[in-house]
Amino acid sequence: MSETNTGRCLCGAVRFKTTGPLRGVIYCHCGQCRRQTGHYVAATAVADARITIEGTDSLSWYEASADAKRGFCRTCGSLLFWKGEGLDRISIMAGAFDQPTGLKGQSHIFAGDKGDYYAIDDGLPVFEASGANTSAPKA
Ligand SMILES: [Zn+2]
Ligand SMILES: [Zn+2]
Repeated sequence: MSETNTGRCLCGAVRFKTTGPLRGVIYCHCGQCRRQTGHYVAATAVADARITIEGTDSLSWYEASADAKRGFCRTCGSLLFWKGEGLDRISIMAGAFDQPTGLKGQSHIFAGDKGDYYAIDDGLPVFEASGANTSAPKA
């Protein structure tokens, strides 16, 4: 049986379901993620074909740059998705998943832009900018 995971925003207006394995969690410490989340992003990813989203009427997309847009619930404000321009995968915020997620941390990116009020000390690989393998699992 194929692995299935579900999740939702805080108010429940936007729900999603993924099938197949999830990528390890990548923590993004860039300034855009910091301001949008109030801390930093923790996100997994799947191929576009492996996610179904319900409640898209409540989903708003904000383009912080020409490279990507960020999907959030317009009612409760939960950040749910990050979608890179031209990519065939979608990043999903790890905290939006129903527990247990089975997710594991993979690496830190854009550590060069991180907030000055915390340390990265979990032993995972740290990249100053991009540079991690951010692909979604094939299977
Ligand atoms: Zn919501
Ligand atoms: Zn970021």
